[in-house]
This record gives sequence, structure tokens and C-alpha cells, in this order.
Amino acid sequence: MSPLAATATPIASTAAGFLLTLAAVTLGYLGVCWVRPFRRCRRCHGTGRRPGLILRTGRTCRRCDGTGEHLRPGRTALNYLRELHDKSNR
Ligand SMILES: [Zn+2]
Repeated sequence: MSPLAATATPIASTAAGFLLTLAAVTLGYLGVCWVRPFRRCRRCHGTGRRPGLILRTGRTCRRCDGTGEHLRPGRTALNYLRELHDKSNR
């Protein structure tokens, strides 16, 4: 009997477990992106205003354009894929 035969099954089960975990995490993230497409802006902490550098007067956050929310990267990818799908069906 080959000494490698005993190690073949645990490697395969480890790889399968890793792939299942990766699939579960990906599907969970896509579910979050579907239910809550927006997240709070990290730069202005959801306020939509940023302090100015010199006068300390409030100015509109450039990252979120003053909305205080930002589209999640996963939702951006889903929107892009949906747009590709809609264009291909025309
Ligand atoms: Zn912002």
C-alpha cells in the first residue's frame, strides 16, 4: 500500500470544506448586498458633511455626495452583471 493513499482523503475533504465555506460566505455576502444595498459612508460616518481643512466649516462629503450612504461593492458588481444581462437580451 502506498504511503500517499492514507493522506489522499483528508486533503480532498479539506479542499471540499474550504470550497463549501467559501461558497457560504459568498452567498451570505450577496444576500446582505441584496437586502441592504447601501452602507454608511466611512469618510463622513453617515453625516454627509466633512469639516473643512482651514476654516473648519462643514462641507459636503465628496465620497458620498452628501447622502451619507455608499453602495456596497458587491451590489455594484450585481448591478453591473444585471446591466450586462439586460443588454444581452435586447
Ligand atoms: Zn460621506
